[in-house]
Amino acid sequence: MSYNKENIFAKIVRGEIQCKKVYENDYVLAFHDINPQKKVHILVIPKGEYIDLDDFNKRATDKEIVEFNKAVTHVANLVGGKTNGYRALTNIGQDGGQEVPHLHFHIFAGEKIGKMVS
Ligand code: 5GP
Repeated sequence: MSYNKENIFAKIVRGEIQCKKVYENDYVLAFHDINPQKKVHILVIPKGEYIDLDDFNKRATDKEIVEFNKAVTHVANLVGGKTNGYRALTNIGQDGGQEVPHLHFHIFAGEKIGKMVS
């Protein structure tokens, strides 16, 4: 499967679709999920074109990987995760329940997140 440049997060990175931005640097963008599942629900995405975590780990530069991982922690702290914790997760592929084929970590915070899987 090759990267689809028309996916919704690619359009957000290119500024073609708006988002409620939480954080941005040269490597990553973080914004509120349009359909929040918890009090705080943020998406952290790399600006580079990667389908999922496996694709990212295979093709991204070491710098991109370091910056992305640091950004997950940074954004989690920005939205209050340092206080009582948070959950970070990424879905991969069909069985993983991934809907948007551009790597993203969900950050859930602001309340007890509950069961890990349903
Ligand atoms: P996935 O199921 O791929 O792990 O998660 C995709 C997430 O993207 C979902 O939580 C969904 O609500 C969110 N989403 C889909 N389209 C948009 C959009 O246009 N803007 C924002 N901010 N979030 C979106």
